[in-house]
Amino acid sequence: MNTSPSAAESAAEPAAQPTAPSAPSARTQVKRSANRASHDPAVLHAIIDAAWICHVAFRDDHGVHCIPTACWRIGEHLYIHGSNGSRMVKRLLDDECCVTITHVDGLVMARSAFNHSMNYRSAVIYGRFEKVEESGEVDKRDALEAFMEHLAPGRQAEIRPGNDNEYAATTVLRIALAEAACKVRSGPPEDDPEDMDVRAWAGVLPLREVRGAPVPDAACTIAAPYYVRHWQE
Ligand SMILES: Cc1cc2nc3c(=O)[nH]c(=O)nc-3n(C[C@H](O)[C@H](O)[C@H](O)COP(=O)(O)OP(=O)(O)OC[C@H]3O[C@@H](n4cnc5c(N)ncnc54)[C@H](O)[C@@H]3O)c2cc1C
Repeated sequence: MNTSPSAAESAAEPAAQPTAPSAPSARTQVKRSANRASHDPAVLHAIIDAAWICHVAFRDDHGVHCIPTACWRIGEHLYIHGSNGSRMVKRLLDDECCVTITHVDGLVMARSAFNHSMNYRSAVIYGRFEKVEESGEVDKRDALEAFMEHLAPGRQAEIRPGNDNEYAATTVLRIALAEAACKVRSGPPEDDPEDMDVRAWAGVLPLREVRGAPVPDAACTIAAPYYVRHWQE
């Protein structure tokens, strides 16, 4: 779920304007179930903005790794952050990687075992991360504030901001959304005509993220701000 549709547009990078669908590259050309493919930037943006995390796949001397990490979008880039000492952060600056995001929207129950499916929205992004510097095209501090805005709009103004040491110990990375593919499945099961008489329930079991009731810290005496009061809406 996206807490802040505008967070992606709030930092310094010019507002992303979804334009015509991008042309797929050799590796983003969807072949299997190509009818579910999209290279429309607006679809990609929506999938990223609805995500709390992405998975980043990269290689090092020990093989291939796929690491979950928080993400957010500013314009035409996906952003992540981590400690300067993070193996992942260091490796991502050296080489190409692949980032994925998946939202599961439902279990699709068909009348035959092999026609079962899932409803989903997924994205695969290829490229190389670059370091976001202070006073860069997008300032590192602005990028981290956009992350906070993505999580809880308005919270940045309430909290103790990061100090110089904290910012210095943190690396912010971004990857361009220039080479990406999305796949989206929705709707009912697609049964073969000869299976329509099978006496099994068929349909979709929807799945969604559920927001729980906020749990204040025992020592917190502050009235719940807007984003806490409206967390479950
Ligand atoms: C929730 C979920 C469950 C799935 N379960 C299964 C399963 O059980 N078995 C199975 O075979 N497949 C499953 N899929 C589909 C799977 O993600 C692949 O699309 C499919 O396996 C084809 O892979 P491929 O590499 O052969 O596709 P190809 O069409 O050859 O892939 C070509 C390119 O298309 C892009 N692409 C491929 N898949 C995706 C994707 N899902 N999202 C965005 N871009 C993509 C990539 O850039 C890839 O390099 C599932 C997908 C989701 C989101």
